[in-house]
Parts: sequence; C-alpha cells; structure tokens
Amino acid sequence: MLVDTHTHLDAEQFDEDREETIARAVEQGITRMINIGFNRETIPSTMELAERYDFIYAAVGWHPQDAVTMKEEDLDWIAELCRHEKVVAIGEIGLDYYWDTSPRDIQHAVFRKQIGLARELGMPIVIHNRDAHEDTVRILREEKAHEVGGVMHAFSGSWETAKLCLNMGFHLSFGGPITFKNAKQPKEVLRQTPLDRLLLETDAPYLTPHPYRGKRNESAYVRFVAEAAAELKGMDFHELAEITTHNSLERFGIR
Ligand SMILES: [Zn+2]
Repeated sequence: MLVDTHTHLDAEQFDEDREETIARAVEQGITRMINIGFNRETIPSTMELAERYDFIYAAVGWHPQDAVTMKEEDLDWIAELCRHEKVVAIGEIGLDYYWDTSPRDIQHAVFRKQIGLARELGMPIVIHNRDAHEDTVRILREEKAHEVGGVMHAFSGSWETAKLCLNMGFHLSFGGPITFKNAKQPKEVLRQTPLDRLLLETDAPYLTPHPYRGKRNESAYVRFVAEAAAELKGMDFHELAEITTHNSLERFGIR
C-alpha cells in the first residue's frame, strides 16, 4: 500500500485516459491520492475528482505562479472549501522564483495570507518552493507556520534547509528526482530525513521517475519512488511503504 501525496490527475494530460490512469494506480496498490487544486481552473476539477472517487482527497490553495490572479474572494472560497470532508490541506502555496510569473511581493503577500488562513482553520499546508529556499523558510517562520505544519512538496533544498523545515514541524515529500542517477542532493537529504517525517509523491504529470523519465508521469509510478526511497534508507520496500502510508494518513488526518 502506498499514498501519492501530491498529484494532478485533473490535468489535461489525462483527458484521454483519466479513468484508466486512476485504475492503474489502484492496481499498483496506491490506496489513496491527494490531488492538488491550485488556481481558479484546477480547484473545481480537483473537487470533482475528490467527490467522484472515495480514495482521492483534495488540497486547495493558490499557487505562487498564479499569485497575481488571486482576488480577495478567492481566499473566502478556499476557506469555504476547507469545510468539505475531502479537503485535507491548503496548497500548493509558496514561492516560485524560477518561473517568476508573478511579482515577488505579490507572491509573498498571497503566501502569507494563506498561511494565516491555514492557522485560522487549523489546516496543514502544502508548500511549493522553487529556487526560493531562504524566503520560503523566512516567511514560514514569520507567519508561525509551525502551528499547523504540513508538507515541503518535491523537496529540493539542502540538508540545512531541510533541518529548518523539520524544526518547524514539516514533513518532507520526495518524488521522481530521487530515482535520477545524477540527483545527489535529494538522495542525500532523503537518507537523513527521519522516517516519521518522510512522505512520497509523484507530482504527476510532471517529474516522472526513472525508468519513464521524459514521459508523462502518473500516480502508479509512486511505486518507483518508494523503491528508490527504500534502497536509499536500506530498508525493506514493504516496511517503507507501511511507514510512509501511516505518515501520510496521520499528517492529512485521513482515516
Ligand atoms: Zn504540484
């Protein structure tokens, strides 16, 4: 049994074969998936999936790339959706200095507002951080994110950054990159991550693990991520699967 803690099964890349893709994941023992709705278009499609499949849960939030489009009422919309029984987190939220599609001061403001909302509602947060390690950690600290904790999704920082996040009560989630031959840093960070803070994800349709790197990713492939993680931890696959599944259910309050 495995959980894919971060997937985008509503993405257009699955329009031709969404049902089959979800069925393949279930066949592979992926018993639960958390789909991420991160803007005006993907929040409704995420909620549709979560309502249609009992094993698909939702996280809803405003992505830093879309920060510039967020309106005041969108925060109320997210707050309202958090009352839905299938919504388990606010996210993905954070900072993206790689694409830089929204001005940084707007990214910061939108990030801060959503951490505030999460604290108000007692919801965990799912953090997207691309090339913005320092500011992400600083804002998490300034906004007292430790009160709710959450997940550093597709963690790509150094062990130094990892420790700061772990100290704020966050879990670290790893995906496809830990299966890449040349990805030294995420492998090293995963090795050092305490087992009770370790989560797995695909971020499908992106970040496809070896041996399908370069092709479309899907939730079934979290199995390859788990195999790589077990090897890096020097553990039996089933033991690692059991621990990370337990962590996922506990962190997101899924029964
Ligand atoms: Zn994502």
